[in-house]
Amino acid sequence: MPELFIGGAWIAASEGGTREIRCPADGSLVATVDEAGPKDAAAAIAAAREAFDHGPWPRTPAAERGALLLRTADLLERDQEDFARAESLDTGKRIVESRYDMADIANCFRYFGNLVAAGGGDRVVDTGDPGVDSRVVHEPVGVCALITPWNYPLLQTAWKVAPALGAGNTFVLKPSELTPHTAIMLMRLLTEAGLPPGAANLVLGAGATAGAPLTEDPRVDLVSFTGGLVTGRRIMAAAAPTVKKVALELGGKNPNIVFSDADFEAAVDHALMAVFLHSGQVCSAGARLLVQDDLHDAFVDAIVEQARRIPLGGPFDDDARTGPLISAAHRDKIEAYVAAGVAEGAVVRCGGGRPEQPELQQGFYYLPTVLDDCNAGMSVIRDESFGPVLTVERFHDEDEAVALANSTVYGLAGAVWTGDTDRGHRVASRVRAGTMWINDFHPYVPQAEWGGMKQSGFGRELGPAGLAEYQEAKHVWRRL
Ligand code: NAD
Repeated sequence: MPELFIGGAWIAASEGGTREIRCPADGSLVATVDEAGPKDAAAAIAAAREAFDHGPWPRTPAAERGALLLRTADLLERDQEDFARAESLDTGKRIVESRYDMADIANCFRYFGNLVAAGGGDRVVDTGDPGVDSRVVHEPVGVCALITPWNYPLLQTAWKVAPALGAGNTFVLKPSELTPHTAIMLMRLLTEAGLPPGAANLVLGAGATAGAPLTEDPRVDLVSFTGGLVTGRRIMAAAAPTVKKVALELGGKNPNIVFSDADFEAAVDHALMAVFLHSGQVCSAGARLLVQDDLHDAFVDAIVEQARRIPLGGPFDDDARTGPLISAAHRDKIEAYVAAGVAEGAVVRCGGGRPEQPELQQGFYYLPTVLDDCNAGMSVIRDESFGPVLTVERFHDEDEAVALANSTVYGLAGAVWTGDTDRGHRVASRVRAGTMWINDFHPYVPQAEWGGMKQSGFGRELGPAGLAEYQEAKHVWRRL
């Protein structure tokens, strides 16, 4: 069956391109899918434009749009096991993690469904003039290009699709070329939920051929992108000539700051989970451990002792606690990154190479790695590795911890561990990041905004601001 979804029809790539999708855990062939080129991207944009300008979806009352999102949430729950399996085969992620993601994805649709049905932010303005009726209403932005990465394929897609549709937009979705399956499945569910043809369109394929045309075309009004910093810069530049609205969710190099008065066990457990979850392929991974001088030795010893024992395995291996990297190319990148760190003086305390077990040789595995004696001048501290690599820096006091935390160009997330609540809040407010956890790591809820400061991007997903990204606020003033 063809896999591009354009104007409500499933079609094959016009130039006949295909791509093999292989499971990162063992290299097995998952499927061969259509690979769109610029002509297909243009056709998808035309369909979304037509649906926005003349179709029913942007003119559907907010309550009905909200209801469709709620129906989609129910369908996602009905099919959650199929989705979780597809996600795990594409990404190599453990099935338990994919199941967690599915629950979050349904919640995301439900949250935006309720928010939209509740009015989507429209309000009456008190002008002080009794002869005037003044209102701010919210309209959709138009045709949205939604471009997503491979690490949380459907979750990142849900964070865009739910508010985009909820606000009444039409869209063209371009998922990562490495992980297309759950996007295909989502198109089927949206159709089953009753979305009219042309409101949702899907092109699969590489960034340069299927993604770039979406960022340049004058018929597209908004680009919402989640991915790497370098791609983000390119997309911002491509969108500039037609002044598209742009939202960028980029990388992170997130500090996990541990003071000596922290709860030791909890801080160790969370520091491990923060960086080794999904093999570190998480934008908010706690990849930089900042630990107070007098705690350093005991804390790092405890981390290393446990990191050495983390079992690796494929998506359906119940004993595995972390899995493979997404591709051979990505593993090469991690290897180069660790080598550069060592050349600059970092000390490998554990990992630093590939596992030796014969059953893991067909997959793209890399051992959980801890690099000690790092400092802010090193490339391992400045650059996002996006792998299972924890770097360790020491600090003396609060000011130094904050300065180190803020020393990279990124500002996505971070955490502070301390028994002193005032200090926790002080540090949380001084670190320039869109999310800060105090005595925790990684939780989020759809009600609260997510996004980056500095070069981690701009714009917000989730929360009321996550809907506002897809709305134009219009002031209507009537003289009575
Ligand atoms: P990537 O930048 O390589 O690709 C992301 C998407 O952009 C893919 O669909 C790709 O095909 C597409 N693309 C590439 N070049 C393009 C171009 N010129 N024009 C249009 N589209 C193009 O990123 P990735 O390797 O897939 O994902 C990993 C990155 O995503 C990491 O840096 C990670 O931190 C980031 N990320 C951020 C968040 C967040 O919430 N801030 C969440 C998840 C991932």
